[in-house]
Amino acid sequence: MGRSVLVTGGNRGIGLAIARGLAEQGHSVAVTHRGSGAPEGLFGVQADVTDSEAIDAAFKQVEEHQGPVEVLVSNAGMNDDTLLMRMSEEQFAKVVDANLTGAYRVAKRASRGMLRAKWGRFVFISSVVGLSGSAGQTNYAASKAGLVGFARSLARELGSRNITANVVAPGFVVTDMTNALTEDQRAATLAQIPAGRYGDPADIAAAVGFLASDQAGYVNGAVLPVDGGLGMGH
Ligand code: NDP
Repeated sequence: MGRSVLVTGGNRGIGLAIARGLAEQGHSVAVTHRGSGAPEGLFGVQADVTDSEAIDAAFKQVEEHQGPVEVLVSNAGMNDDTLLMRMSEEQFAKVVDANLTGAYRVAKRASRGMLRAKWGRFVFISSVVGLSGSAGQTNYAASKAGLVGFARSLARELGSRNITANVVAPGFVVTDMTNALTEDQRAATLAQIPAGRYGDPADIAAAVGFLASDQAGYVNGAVLPVDGGLGMGH
């Protein structure tokens, strides 16, 4: 059955692969972007996840276009890496605001329609480093770990209404975000990945496709690593 889907940050990278994967499954898929425009064949709405009013306006456009959001993929995210000793409070707060508070903003807005429909799927894109930690990423790792507690609390609040909230924790996936790393950083990570390769955005899309499906209705509060074994199940 085709659902109404919204993928935040679905204009590029992992989000775009998720959006395309869900569209291929027959869902109506909308993506947020911050000015790049909609990718070909997808419905685009402009919104920054740090702006509640913009989110509300984006949801209204999506609702008019394809009905209330039934599947929310909270994927938009950013990093601003440096060691704690050099990290300003602004740098810390900015990353948490986009990655964690941003997820709260879109999830809260989406929950209304899901409660009315008595059906819903939340999928939050976290990261392997949310659980393992990562030097130079205290802000990013904290925001990604926060998504786990957030999703599990949501699962407890809404689980009885056919609404699930799950987390996907990607490992190292080749996108603009990881292309910004140095060759040394990339090689050091690769050496730790049992699969012997970096992840492809399609690897993440496949996991999200499952968690968004009707068949995944009894999977709730889960953290699904998609990392080639990097985190060994964590
Ligand atoms: P990219 O940098 O390629 O894309 C990031 C996406 O998030 C873009 O669509 C960007 O929009 C959007 N975005 C960032 N900040 C905001 C904001 N404030 N409001 C709205 N949209 C925003 O990253 P990836 O595709 O690699 O990452 C996608 C998600 O996966 C992120 O949450 C990331 O943390 C997570 N992840 C990535 C991993 C990797 O190895 N690549 C590993 C683990 C997790 P715009 O185009 O407008 O900038």
